[in-house]
Amino acid sequence: MRTLSRIAFASTAVLAMAGSARPQAKPLASPQEVQKIYDRLLPQIDRIPIYDNHSHATFPDDSDMDAQAAPPDESSVLRLRDTNPEFVAAAKALFGYPYDDFQPEHAKWLADKEKAAEKDGGTAYWDGILDKLNIETCLANRVALAPYLDPKRFHWVFFVDSFLFPLNNRDQTGKNPDMGVYIPLQEKVLHRYMQQENVSALPADLAGYESFVRQTVADNQKKGGVAVKFEAAYFRSLYFSDPPRDKAEAIYAKYHAGGVPSNEDYRTFQDYIFRVLIDQAGKLNLSVHFHSAVGIGDYFSLRNGHPLNLENVLRDPRYAKTKFVLIHGGYPYTLDMIWLTAAKNVYTDSSLMGYYVYPSELKNILKQWISLYPERMMFGSDAFPFNDAVGAEETFWLAVRSARTAVAAALAELVAEGAFTDEKALELARMYLHDNAARLYGEIK
Ligand SMILES: [Zn+2]
Repeated sequence: MRTLSRIAFASTAVLAMAGSARPQAKPLASPQEVQKIYDRLLPQIDRIPIYDNHSHATFPDDSDMDAQAAPPDESSVLRLRDTNPEFVAAAKALFGYPYDDFQPEHAKWLADKEKAAEKDGGTAYWDGILDKLNIETCLANRVALAPYLDPKRFHWVFFVDSFLFPLNNRDQTGKNPDMGVYIPLQEKVLHRYMQQENVSALPADLAGYESFVRQTVADNQKKGGVAVKFEAAYFRSLYFSDPPRDKAEAIYAKYHAGGVPSNEDYRTFQDYIFRVLIDQAGKLNLSVHFHSAVGIGDYFSLRNGHPLNLENVLRDPRYAKTKFVLIHGGYPYTLDMIWLTAAKNVYTDSSLMGYYVYPSELKNILKQWISLYPERMMFGSDAFPFNDAVGAEETFWLAVRSARTAVAAALAELVAEGAFTDEKALELARMYLHDNAARLYGEIK
């Protein structure tokens, strides 16, 4: 009954609005009209300073750029291959690159420039890249912040998956060749955290392990961390159950000093520690980032990485004050994903998709998101060095140019269809490119 009367009320409201001056939005607009609006929106959108929610700003030989490495047999999407002429355009725009291809002897020109900047050691080089792209602030998702990144411009997002792997990982590592690369790197990060906290061996009981986990997260925040990041989708399902503490305690007691836990026991233990991490992040007001999209490698499970797996966590009232960010827009499940952001503490970004697909397709995705929850969507570059020629600099450029043109096109269509005015369109563009992230990380109220 209650639902029925709400519907009745809603239709009265629609009838009351029908007489207002602006006509109903229409499904088709002329291409000439869309082009005209695009041409006047784009220069204004280009002037909006960007807040980049996700990047791996780095020199290519810095192993702290990520907590994992490229899997052994990666097959790259078309747009990210070094044959993509857009990367030459990027190098020309950023550095005045004098060649039209990345022949090894030409690519050396770029590599030498980068090596000189790295040797110089200052922060001017990466600040300069941000300036050229009109990026004001940029999150850097790395194992540790680098001395060559200016902490005023680059804020640290640190990895926490390693806390899920303190036990004997023989069976985890053996699951497939990709895990054979990934898991030893997680063990390395865990040891690094143990060194940081002056912990020489795993604590004797779960209480000790939990306090080590909580303390490391708190200390990383003191070092400048603004968010924690889970790459868990690469290793396991994003579905986390809610096991009782005594179960996790028994598993830890049995295996912390040796022995190989069964898959089921390991998963139960991880599900529990995951919740300790979420709880601690919430208490410290650190946002929680999830890789929630396709991933690289030959064994990445689309089913395990599907963002809907997180629904029970995102909608858990215990975490209502914790801010969650679904990195990479859940791509390719972007429409399922956007409905998760109906919850006020759930956000997303367009990182990775911005260079996986061309702007014409990114436009369609952004148009859908803008029409649904424009307060929760953010720009992200996922800038990353892909090979000798294509560095994080060029992927920054590609992601920024794609996002600015795609959002201008999405908004131009919506304005032409009669959804809203130019003014509103520019406000929505500012929210996407800057304000939503600045507000999430407490830089604007
Ligand atoms: Zn990334």
